[in-house]
Amino acid sequence: MHSIRSKVFLWLLPLILTTLFLAKSYYDVREAQATSTVQQLALMTATLGARELEHFFHLREQEFELLSSAINLCDKESHPFEETVTSALRLTSGLSAIISSGPDGLVTHVQLSSNHSNRHVLQKNIKGQYILPEAELDDLFHRYQTWTAKQSTYTNQQVALLTDEAELKARGENNSERYRHVQRKLLDVRERLKSPYTQVILGGASQAVSLGLPFNMDTYIFSRPILNCDSGNLEGYYSAFMDRTLLEDFVYSLKEELLSNGIVLSEIALINERSGEFLTQSSTLNPELLKTLTPELSDSVNVRQDIEGIALRLPIETSRTLITKTHDHINNRLHNPEELAKSDPKSGISLLMYIPAAELQRRCDQILAEVVIWASVIALVFTLLIFLLAQSIAGPIIHLTEQAESLARGQHRHKSVKSRNDEIGRLLHTFENMAATIKTKENDLFEQATHDTLTGCANRRALFTYAAEEKRLAEQSGGSLFVFMLDLDHFKNVNDLYGHKTGDYVLLEFAQTVRKLLRTEDKFCRIGGEEFSLLIAETDLSSARIIAERIRQRVEDLILTDPQNNEFKITVSIGLSEWLPTESFDQALLHSDERLYTAKRAGRNRVIS
Ligand code: GH3
Ligand code: MG
Ligand code: MG
Repeated sequence: MHSIRSKVFLWLLPLILTTLFLAKSYYDVREAQATSTVQQLALMTATLGARELEHFFHLREQEFELLSSAINLCDKESHPFEETVTSALRLTSGLSAIISSGPDGLVTHVQLSSNHSNRHVLQKNIKGQYILPEAELDDLFHRYQTWTAKQSTYTNQQVALLTDEAELKARGENNSERYRHVQRKLLDVRERLKSPYTQVILGGASQAVSLGLPFNMDTYIFSRPILNCDSGNLEGYYSAFMDRTLLEDFVYSLKEELLSNGIVLSEIALINERSGEFLTQSSTLNPELLKTLTPELSDSVNVRQDIEGIALRLPIETSRTLITKTHDHINNRLHNPEELAKSDPKSGISLLMYIPAAELQRRCDQILAEVVIWASVIALVFTLLIFLLAQSIAGPIIHLTEQAESLARGQHRHKSVKSRNDEIGRLLHTFENMAATIKTKENDLFEQATHDTLTGCANRRALFTYAAEEKRLAEQSGGSLFVFMLDLDHFKNVNDLYGHKTGDYVLLEFAQTVRKLLRTEDKFCRIGGEEFSLLIAETDLSSARIIAERIRQRVEDLILTDPQNNEFKITVSIGLSEWLPTESFDQALLHSDERLYTAKRAGRNRVIS
């Protein structure tokens, strides 16, 4: 390749390197961005999910409170218990079933809710069976006993608080912090006086199966004692089962949320922190794996090498307090949800989100493919541009260099190039004009140097050039060469008689007459004033003589006129000899010249050979 073209193509190297460097930097940024986006999305979705779940559990708790209020209205005379329960259950949306039992724990009534998830469930008759585990029943009974025992204390507390309230009111401190504190305590005491606190357990997988509910996994079971409206005596217990299919739906909606944000591979599950078991189905995460992960799981969004992905574990606060509240009530402490949650971090439910490294890799692969395509396109465009640049700038320069070199060697041949209007086009055009001018001048100079301007015949110098060329050709072909010397007779007299101008005219007429008798390849030259020479190849002596005689005869026949239109004639003497291969051209010329003088001496107008 021409060096200028290679140089132009060398420009590609930094461009391609820069493109590669930029592509790599761009990929790094996009990769970091993709990882960060996945991390942020995971954290955001998990956090929002956890908040929603907290709200969900809070709502279930409130629904159970609502159910309790309906049951404890104590208008059983007008409405049987069954009817009360059925209508109260309609007020809820997240409870699947409610059962009531006697103080002995034997089921007295079962009512399934008309929830969407219960639509295919047939209610089983489990009346007269034990449903709640014995330990839970004992706990409930203990709860009732404690509550009964505390009645007088609560009443005293209530009286004391009412007194405080009245005093504060009388002092006009209705808006004071103390007044509000008293009010809160009063509400709490009244609540305690009304009935024992709800008992919440996280379990009941087998009970759910017994009831025929559409799930066979643990759920939250809210229980309370049934108290006699008049005596306050224990009449039995009622328990409501939370609809845990809603949890599956919720987990599914979170996955959908991630999917809508472009995260295809993800796993979301709820785990029971106490048992370490999954509350919702999980295809990729198994309890065994979870056990090895749980102690290390944190809410950090870093990609972990050991678990090959991002794992988040967010505890659902209300799910902790639900259970802790129960325990606290047994321990008879005023509950403060925040403190309670801290007191038993291992209780309740956690939201587990897992995004495998494969998801990040999938995104990175996508970005890589994108970057590779763009970098290739850019590299291709650069290559194309450089190619065009090489063609449009290096091409003409190379052409011009070659032309200039051939001009310098004297072998310039015009080569056509595509015409263009720019500076390069003008440069090429100017160069061609310049080369053409040089050629014309050169031809003129050559013509002047080798030809006689009066007769148009080649001159003495050209004769020697022709002689060398003819000699070379004759040596190749083995043909003969003949040298003629021609001299006009008494030419001086022509000048003297008719003037120099007529002498010139005679010389021209003579030359034209001879030329008419010759072949184009015969070399006819004017070597001096009225002396001519003829070099003939490819012939023999007799033919040469015939030619010489024919010239002499034709010159003799020539009728010339002077300026006064007087006719006159001229004659020519010719010396002819064969140019032998052993001789130089000077020697051959000399021989012919000698014969010419012989012809002159013999009386002129003759051929001597
Ligand atoms: P010869 O028969 O012995 O050759 O006699 P000649 O008169 O031809 O020979 P000579 O050498 O005495 O004279 C030649 C003349 O040719 C002399 C010169 O003036 C004339 N002459 C030479 N060149 C030119 C020319 O270019 N034009 C004209 N008009 N005359 C020329
Ligand atoms: Mg002469
Ligand atoms: Mg003469």
